[in-house]
Amino acid sequence: MKINFLLAVPVMGELSSETVKNDIILCKMCKRRETQYSNITYVFDRWRGEDIINGASEFFISQRLKEKLEEKNIKGYKLTLIKTTFSEQRGGIRKFGKEAY
Ligand SMILES: [Zn+2]
Repeated sequence: MKINFLLAVPVMGELSSETVKNDIILCKMCKRRETQYSNITYVFDRWRGEDIINGASEFFISQRLKEKLEEKNIKGYKLTLIKTTFSEQRGGIRKFGKEAY
C-alpha cells in the first residue's frame, strides 16, 4: 500500500455559526471521542478552485474530486453534502462547480 503526503494550499474560510458540533464519547474509560457535525455550511473567504479543503478537523472536497473518486472506484471515505457560501470580506474569485462536498 502506498501512502502519499498531501501538500495542500490553505483555503481561507470557516464553518458558519449555524453549523452544529456534537462531541460523542466513544469510550468512557479513555474518553476517546468523535466530533460529528451537522447542518454544515462552509463560509469561504476565498476559493480559487482547490479540490481539498481542511477545516475544523474535517476535509471538504469539490464536486470535481468527488466525481474522480467515484470514477476510479476509490473507497474508504464517507461524504456528506454541505452548504457553501462566501464571507463579506472575500477578496477572491467567486466561482463554484456544481456542489461542494
Ligand atoms: Zn477507550
